[in-house]
Amino acid sequence: MSTKPWWNDGIQFQCQGSGKCCTSHGEFGFVFLTREDRQRMAQHLGLSTSAFTKKYCDKMGPAFHLKEDPKNPDCMFLKNKGCSIYEARPVQCRTWPFWPEVMNAKAWKKEVVDFCPGVNKGKVWSRDEIEKNLAEQTRSEDAILTGK
Ligand code: SF4
Repeated sequence: MSTKPWWNDGIQFQCQGSGKCCTSHGEFGFVFLTREDRQRMAQHLGLSTSAFTKKYCDKMGPAFHLKEDPKNPDCMFLKNKGCSIYEARPVQCRTWPFWPEVMNAKAWKKEVVDFCPGVNKGKVWSRDEIEKNLAEQTRSEDAILTGK
């Protein structure tokens, strides 16, 4: 018999537009990108993927991430507390807060509940929806770590 996860009855979450997850906070400091993310974002901005990568990305080992300004912790696409490339935003920005590394009691409390004002607000995400996001985020993280 399989045990039910703690999110079996769903989790209430709706983005409140705080922009907090679009600003560097230690481990949330980088916006990592798969090749598909870079392609989608480049297309959205009318650039080739290589031009986009050159202009907006840095690399840490095999992993591409958005460049950061040491004097400004905000993501370069954060404008007026909103994402200026929302339709084309990276997978990690779509799947938050349903990331594998925070879906345990300790991290959920410390890194999500105490941090993100969208928790316990608005839409209730079903177990299926949460697990789809978890699976998508896992695929994305695996791709980033293998340079894909
Ligand atoms: S790409 Fe958009 S959603 Fe993602 S961190 Fe930057 S501003 Fe936020």
